[in-house]
Amino acid sequence: MFTCPICHAYLIELEAEELATCSFCSAVEETEYLCPNGHFQCEDCRMSNQTQILERVCLNTKSTDPIAIANLVMKHPSFNQYGVEHHELVAAVCLTAIRNLGAQNISGNKLKAAIKRGSKIPYGACGTMGTCGACVSAGVAMGVLTQSNYLKDKERNLTITTTANALLKLTELGGPRCCKFSTYASIISVWEIATNELVMNLPALNVKCAFQGKLKECHLNKCPYYEQ
Ligand SMILES: [Zn+2]
Ligand SMILES: [Zn+2]
Repeated sequence: MFTCPICHAYLIELEAEELATCSFCSAVEETEYLCPNGHFQCEDCRMSNQTQILERVCLNTKSTDPIAIANLVMKHPSFNQYGVEHHELVAAVCLTAIRNLGAQNISGNKLKAAIKRGSKIPYGACGTMGTCGACVSAGVAMGVLTQSNYLKDKERNLTITTTANALLKLTELGGPRCCKFSTYASIISVWEIATNELVMNLPALNVKCAFQGKLKECHLNKCPYYEQ
């Protein structure tokens, strides 16, 4: 029996092939199997690695909610509970949501470049280097939004502050690592600074962990994103 990658329900075998819309990339494809909850994964998304699925989702979604986009990507079978793939995620989902909100024009190439920048932070950097790839990816998002570089003044400050604020949220929770918490906290850091400093009109975020209780090292009700 096949299961749905999104909700883990058993797939239903159809009597005849039907057209279905991919839950990840919106491609329409013929299928013999469907999730009872309406989810479907197209062939290209099924074969995608972590970077590819992130690009496929971000370049095709119309969603304006960075948390919902991140949760969808993290449910793809290529995404692990913990891992460097989270270091590419934050900038991509924030810039995608801001692009879909019409708050700033961001090209597909800029999105891809933002994904690449986050990938340079190694696994486990939180405990050994004092930084976290997801938090760095938050800084990447701010760097793109402000067109920052090392010669700029206010833009550089905002970029550094975005990563720094995200890192401080990690220390509030304490250890051990949680890549899902780091992802949510980093998205919130981007949202806060884009709202307060860039005066973007962004919708409020409602963060509930989509993986709570399923992770090996879940902080359970110690985590602000854990719902009782
Ligand atoms: Zn499903
Ligand atoms: Zn797809």
